[in-house]
Amino acid sequence: MYDLTVKQQLSDRITNLAESATLKMAALSRELKGQGIDVITLSLGEPDFDTPEHIREAAKAAIDGGYTHYTPVPGYKDLREAVCLKFKRDNNLDYTPEQIVVSTGAKQSIANVVFCLVNPGEEVLLPIPYWVSYAAQIELAQGVIKEITTDIDKEFKVTPEQLDAAITENTKLIIFSSPCNPTGSVYTKEELRGIAEVVAKYENLYVVADEIYEHINYGDKHESLAQFDFIKDRVITVNGLSKGFAMTGWRLGFIGAPLPIAKACTKMQGQFTSATCSIAQRAAIAALTGSLDATHAMKAEFHKRRDLLLGLLNDIPGVKTYVPKGAFYIFPDVSHYFGKSDGETTIENVDDLCMYLLNKAHVSLVTGSAFGNDQCLRISYAASEDILIEAAKRIKEYLGKLV
Ligand code: PMP
Ligand code: GLU
Repeated sequence: MYDLTVKQQLSDRITNLAESATLKMAALSRELKGQGIDVITLSLGEPDFDTPEHIREAAKAAIDGGYTHYTPVPGYKDLREAVCLKFKRDNNLDYTPEQIVVSTGAKQSIANVVFCLVNPGEEVLLPIPYWVSYAAQIELAQGVIKEITTDIDKEFKVTPEQLDAAITENTKLIIFSSPCNPTGSVYTKEELRGIAEVVAKYENLYVVADEIYEHINYGDKHESLAQFDFIKDRVITVNGLSKGFAMTGWRLGFIGAPLPIAKACTKMQGQFTSATCSIAQRAAIAALTGSLDATHAMKAEFHKRRDLLLGLLNDIPGVKTYVPKGAFYIFPDVSHYFGKSDGETTIENVDDLCMYLLNKAHVSLVTGSAFGNDQCLRISYAASEDILIEAAKRIKEYLGKLV
């Protein structure tokens, strides 16, 4: 083990990099579980379902079929064709295979884009709350993060006016997700049009539209930002298999992008990881071209759990909620408890509350501060109904001790 504090040896880059809060909380709860403590983990955003069978079968066939060599860096051509078909079928977006880059998870897709677009000192706009890794990746690229505050009463959505006011000559990129991690908020077509109209005014501005939760959307059909043709040449659509197909461990994400950006991302990836796993790529073709029945069944299950958890949280005094329309997270405001104590631990802020709930209630959540918000906690409801009921019971009991 190396010591991250040994500054003489490690670069400033890694010394200053924040650890992923989502992964850190997941590791902490694993550690407590290892000590025999009955921790409920609602911190990691991953479906609790197994990958659907037809996808697993395709992977097995790929191994026996000899798909065991390096592949083209942006992915097999027939996989990129399948991604194009998916974009057309689900989002009515026209991309050619040359505009698709398949990566080792959407996390790498976003990192590729950030590193290919952002020069040191250029600004990247992040509506708060944002997914943890956006901020870390921008910092690694020496970009300047400009946060835009949003409001729980407006479902944490950024308005066109707010965006317009935040853009300067130095703004290069906006990154946001819909459905959103960590809020579960979903932008409507009209809301996206409002954003597109602002972006259209600034010809050097690009947008990463992170649509990885596309299939976990409880309202109307999913809307893509790139549908607005007047900005499509400045939108990078990010998607992947982790969430909608319960394939977090397979590591496969992709972008549809303007050709020069796709080529740049391929060059970047060619120096870091090469293509993602050949077996995962063959499985991805089965996922993208096969039946979506299993995906829809998982969504229906998440929907039921959302309703259940929301009801349970609304029953806890001092916890402020809204109705998340997608993903599998809720991001309630818990600031009511700041300044309170159980006689032993005083809760100064949301980080303290998150650790209090982990250490005393044995429920692992993620602090809002990791997402740029210091009033809320993220709860993932990708867990069975029994687990959610028990977690809410513990949260209620331990919040009740704070006076
Ligand atoms: N974007 C968002 C908003 C996410 O929540 C995640 C993972 N939870 C990712 C991207 C990355 O997903 P992956 O690397 O597993 O494809
Ligand atoms: N993205 C998921 C989350 O937000 C998984 C963990 C991660 O990749 O950071 O929990």
